[in-house]
Amino acid sequence: MESAKETVERVRRGEVRAAARLMRDLDDGVPGAREILKQLYAHSGRAHIIGITGSPGVGKSTLTDRLIQDLRQEGRTVGVVAVDPTSPFTGGAILGDRIRMQRHALDEGVFIRSLATRGHFGGLTASARAVITVLDAMGKDYILVETVGVGQDEVEIAATAYTTMVVTVPGLGDDIQAIKAGILEVADILVVNKADREGAERTCQDLLQMLELQTFRKTHAWKPRVFLTQAKDNQGVEELMAGVREHQEFLSRDEGKALKAARYSRVRQEFLDLLKEGVYTHLVRQLTQDGRLEGILQEILEKRTDPYSASEAFIAQTLGSALRRKPNEGG
Ligand code: GDP
Repeated sequence: MESAKETVERVRRGEVRAAARLMRDLDDGVPGAREILKQLYAHSGRAHIIGITGSPGVGKSTLTDRLIQDLRQEGRTVGVVAVDPTSPFTGGAILGDRIRMQRHALDEGVFIRSLATRGHFGGLTASARAVITVLDAMGKDYILVETVGVGQDEVEIAATAYTTMVVTVPGLGDDIQAIKAGILEVADILVVNKADREGAERTCQDLLQMLELQTFRKTHAWKPRVFLTQAKDNQGVEELMAGVREHQEFLSRDEGKALKAARYSRVRQEFLDLLKEGVYTHLVRQLTQDGRLEGILQEILEKRTDPYSASEAFIAQTLGSALRRKPNEGG
């Protein structure tokens, strides 16, 4: 068995096999994997993280594939995390269109990891964040985080990137509504893909108009840009990449004021996510270990209590006793 220190060193040197193995171990809950992640964290924080989110089928992976190509031509190394809980998944790879990205699989400068089901590590969000930390510690210059913008969690992962891209397509009136409802406000860059389709210009205008109406922005000084692309035919991607660079420059202005703010919210979200995950896992473990779940459910069914009181009482009891026990048991 290789020591944790050796694994940390190998990952830091960018060794693909060591990183892939660690990611698998984290998902499988292999003892010690999480300790390695803790050590790697100190070596993360250098990569520029780009979130790419949008409804299924808008062209996120086609676009990601193009961005990888552009970055590689510039000599940058790239990590990709593709989070898609809606995708069929087998043996470590997401099926379907995502396979297109695999043409980069033989390139040592590119590392792609797909996540579709929750692993041992916790939810998809926790897994994705762990993968980002590993890729970052590997020394990747850019990390592209592609998520399906359907659930709050998936949007959240993209929103905590340093540059967040929201992708849409023309002709989806409802899609614009959906964007309005939540993800528009996290966008630094908006992409209208499938520019070959009718109404692309109109969609751009609608988005610009919506942006004008926004009173709240996550970074007030940055005015989100809107780009038209045709990812399938590699049109508009260069301009989009220039937009990303512009945003990157914006973040580093004034001694990196905006970047510091972005890092702060990223760390905050990551910590709160882990807390949520950890507390929930702890509570469920207690419930099932003691066989208490059945009893509580029965009480609720018989109306001897209600789910509100029962959950409150269980939380107070379990976390209270966990806190009382901690000093002697050492975790
Ligand atoms: P994702 O689900 O958002 O990742 O979308 P994909 O990248 O898998 O693309 C969905 C479909 O849209 C695929 O069949 C792509 O070939 C197609 N597509 C991607 N970009 C364009 C484009 O610019 N124009 C058109 N017409 N189709 C595109």
